[in-house]
Amino acid sequence: MSLLDRLQAFSQKHAISENNSVTPLSAVTKQLYSPTEGEVNGKPAILLGTNNYLGLTFDNACTEAGKKAIDQYGTGTTGSRLANGSYDGHKSLEQDLAEFYGVDHAVVFSTGYTANLGMISALVGHGDTIMLDEHCHASIYDGCKLSGANIIHFRHNNAADLEKRLRRLGDEIANTLIIVEGIYSMLGDRGNLKDICEVKQRYDALLMVDEAHSLGVLGGSGRGLAQESGVEALVDFTTGTFSKSLAGIGGFCVSHHPELEVIRYTSRPYIFTASPSPATIATTKQALAIISSRPQLREQLWKNAHQLYAGLAELGYELSPEISPVIAVNANTQENAMSMWTQLFEQGVYVNMVLPPATPGSRCLLRCSLSAAHTSAQIERVILAFANLQELPMLKQQIA
Ligand code: PMP
Repeated sequence: MSLLDRLQAFSQKHAISENNSVTPLSAVTKQLYSPTEGEVNGKPAILLGTNNYLGLTFDNACTEAGKKAIDQYGTGTTGSRLANGSYDGHKSLEQDLAEFYGVDHAVVFSTGYTANLGMISALVGHGDTIMLDEHCHASIYDGCKLSGANIIHFRHNNAADLEKRLRRLGDEIANTLIIVEGIYSMLGDRGNLKDICEVKQRYDALLMVDEAHSLGVLGGSGRGLAQESGVEALVDFTTGTFSKSLAGIGGFCVSHHPELEVIRYTSRPYIFTASPSPATIATTKQALAIISSRPQLREQLWKNAHQLYAGLAELGYELSPEISPVIAVNANTQENAMSMWTQLFEQGVYVNMVLPPATPGSRCLLRCSLSAAHTSAQIERVILAFANLQELPMLKQQIA
């Protein structure tokens, strides 16, 4: 089969056509009224698919800082920091991130995706081992592949399974990196970080935690699951993204290890891509400050999560196992997921349709992401839209 034939076969298998009714790829947002409402393909929609957890995309301090940075530094950096040097914003954001996490070292990447790619591929290589929670995000899987290390998956959130696999490594344990997440992106459940840390310590492995979905969401000052679990000192590398609570685009890694600085010379996804734009850096600095100064946003986010979860549970939907700002509704089949997604869209509610291979256990999910900026009335409208869905088999048990 030729390369183009292969693409055509994919297109036919997945019935991709210009004439399809609205799908996520053909949905175009022309106007946003607020962080949680906009006009998608000409229809007003409540936005429940963004990861705008704190609702800061239109925050005045953030937008003003972004505009000012464009005026002062222009629209883009047009190059890598290793080639062109840094803007002072890169340096000061790294300082802010280090201070926020209470560590000495922080590195900014161009996206959350490249933060994971860049860290994993710089930390481990051929002959080393990665122990990876099976529910980890695609960016972590891709980083593992890029690294060339030996990849071993352990059962989701199962510290005993991790330990069993570490024990089997014998002498090779010295060069092992364990990777887990704070809040897992598809089912919205928390990592079992306390137990994972306990195992990590016993086997003297390194631990990297991706707090992409938990920064600004968990922990006394919003630092994430490690803070909430009281194990920050045991985490070797924390990665995260600017594209969720921080309402921008970019990524980072923070660490108490001074060796983190070396990756600036060794990490291809850090070196061979342009550094984050001045506007991105400026808005992210403001958003990071807001995580510390406005804890009420975090409280509101959790109130909203409780309201939606309770409403959907009452309707009998099979939901992800724990109340969280990411709530996954099991649609069972691809056809159901598409039908539910379209019906919700027709009713002015935009959620994420997530299908295999992007989902754990090949589930077909509708993923709802809450924001502190959602109003209670908007959430009621979302629940009503789910209540109106036609003739779909609903399982009563929770997603395992
Ligand atoms: N890590 C996790 C857990 C994610 O869910 C995502 C994106 N959804 C990323 C990393 C990548 O972040 P970004 O989209 O900012 O590149």
